[in-house]
Amino acid sequence: MPPPAWRLITSPAAEVAIVHVLVTGGAGFIGSHLADELLTRGHVVHALDDLSTGAMANIRDLRGRSGFSYTIDSCHDNRLVAELVDDADYIFHLAAAVGVQLIVDSPVRTLETNVHCTEIVLSQANKKHKPVFVASTSEVYGKSSSIPFAEDGDIVMGATTRSRWAYACSKALDEFLAIAYHRERQLPVVIGRLFNTVGPRQTGRYGMVVPTFVRQALANQPITVYGSGQQQRCFCHVRDVVRALADLAMRDNLYGQVFNIGSTEEISIGQLAERIRKATQSESEVVLVPYNEAYGEGFEDMRRRVPNIDKINAAIGWKPTACLDEIIADVIQHQTTREQAGSISDSDAIPRNGGSARSERPRLA
Ligand code: UDP
Repeated sequence: MPPPAWRLITSPAAEVAIVHVLVTGGAGFIGSHLADELLTRGHVVHALDDLSTGAMANIRDLRGRSGFSYTIDSCHDNRLVAELVDDADYIFHLAAAVGVQLIVDSPVRTLETNVHCTEIVLSQANKKHKPVFVASTSEVYGKSSSIPFAEDGDIVMGATTRSRWAYACSKALDEFLAIAYHRERQLPVVIGRLFNTVGPRQTGRYGMVVPTFVRQALANQPITVYGSGQQQRCFCHVRDVVRALADLAMRDNLYGQVFNIGSTEEISIGQLAERIRKATQSESEVVLVPYNEAYGEGFEDMRRRVPNIDKINAAIGWKPTACLDEIIADVIQHQTTREQAGSISDSDAIPRNGGSARSERPRLA
């Protein structure tokens, strides 16, 4: 197979070539930040998104930037994906059903989106031998207690009757498929397992805890801590995460590998609620909500989730720069600005399933 038609970057000091990038899920929270980062690095970016969990508001500022274009349509459309892959030198595959609430409420959509879209993207990329970054998730570690999680550690899943694990299994299947394409058909593929990622533009609508707590605190409403509040997470700023994605993708010596991407600064959800209450000077009370009230009967949560980031640090020298206080401050600022601008709150937003196909699509020259 011939190499891709762009210069691969093998050392951080190497000159950066302009790459035409396709970002599936490009109007999502992480996808839109990634598009921003890639444009800033001088690349040409095309976003594909069906707005099922993404939003036009996420790409509002990008639409005026040179080198950015988008298509509002589904990643399930084989022909469309074929055409967009054809135009691109590199593909970031981020389109996925995300958020615990969505996964528990809509398991069919979760499975179909996560598995089918990845099949289509990988198969089209394989036809043209285009390199792909596949976004996976720390959910694949499941109930493992081998903290911190290392990429080659075992994954421990719950029963198939519990919807939460559908997400973990669907993303694990994405990883298996991507690695299979690499081993059997030499497709250049890198996989990133994203741990809890937070920042401006993230919606609390699909269960994400930080934007939810900030919204509740700003409105002086009860802050809803699920379970005992002793479960712990590490939150990474989306700005750091997209820097990792862009750096990982542009190396030709990392294909076929899996990398954790996340912060190692751990906090319990109960402490997080207090931290956000203080930062917003809120009068909210913190209330404990049993898991079965929040997610339905039989929900299982992970007690701790901490990445081992030695591998990505050794490969590209990456580690997070933003601490939790900075992340919380950014989310507060974002939500305050939105309120002042009179935009609707995330939790009030009506999800747009499908949406009519439309595009702003200058050809990728
Ligand atoms: N959580 C919470 N209150 C909320 C939303 C989430 O206590 O309103 C908890 C959730 O049960 C989990 C943690 O916060 O233990 C992180 O949830 P999130 O959905 O952000 O990410 P997860 O780590 O579950 O993928």
